[in-house]
Amino acid sequence: MKIVFLGPPGAGKGTQAVRLCGEKGIAHLSTGDMLREAVRVGTEVGLKAKSYMDSGALVPDDVVIRIIEETLSRLGWEKSFLFDGFPRTVAQAEALGEMLKTRGAGLDHVVYLETSAGVAVERLSGRQTCRKCGANFHEKNMPPKRAGACDHCGGELYQRDDDRPESIRNRLQVYEAQTADLIRYYADKGLLRRVSGDLPAGDVYAEVQQVLGF
Ligand code: ADP
Ligand code: ZN
Repeated sequence: MKIVFLGPPGAGKGTQAVRLCGEKGIAHLSTGDMLREAVRVGTEVGLKAKSYMDSGALVPDDVVIRIIEETLSRLGWEKSFLFDGFPRTVAQAEALGEMLKTRGAGLDHVVYLETSAGVAVERLSGRQTCRKCGANFHEKNMPPKRAGACDHCGGELYQRDDDRPESIRNRLQVYEAQTADLIRYYADKGLLRRVSGDLPAGDVYAEVQQVLGF
């Protein structure tokens, strides 16, 4: 099965994706996590991506498309995947459609986490991310068991550079300008499944399972 999670920054894509993939044995592909790892290690891709990411702009399509294609080739095209944060432009969506089609595969579901801007900003500005495994927490809504440490791996929690107010505003604008078109794009293909992203995480998860038929 191949699934895309779509929605603005702060919709909870990562939170839902980690849980779903953990419970169902699906490979979680987050381009944000992959790019942050490239920045951390200091690869060529990382050096190129960093300034775009810090300001909240999109990394160029060819860079992320290449990362996804390499990852799918390495893991095997027949596997179950959940794409989180990819595609983010119509060009990326078309590239993904093509690469799957030439391997006889395709998307099964695009889950759209419909989230209002106020909720998104509140979640992003209180978000704490694990440096080691990428898991997300929230200072109020989803505090870690021990302050400053990840529940899953004990890694250090930090605030992402792009979770500062100016970058958050920019990311929401970028989403409206470049990513929101994908809602129509996938609705036209009959793949779009809507869930209410404003609800508490457990309720969103129940809806996600329902639209996926799990
Ligand atoms: P969020 O969804 O909360 O904004 P992500 O971790 O998915 O966070 O992405 C963080 C940043 O990484 C984005 O603002 C962008 O700069 C870059 N990025 C991630 N995925 C893509 C993508 N598919 N295309 C272009 N840039 C991307
Ligand atoms: Zn962790």
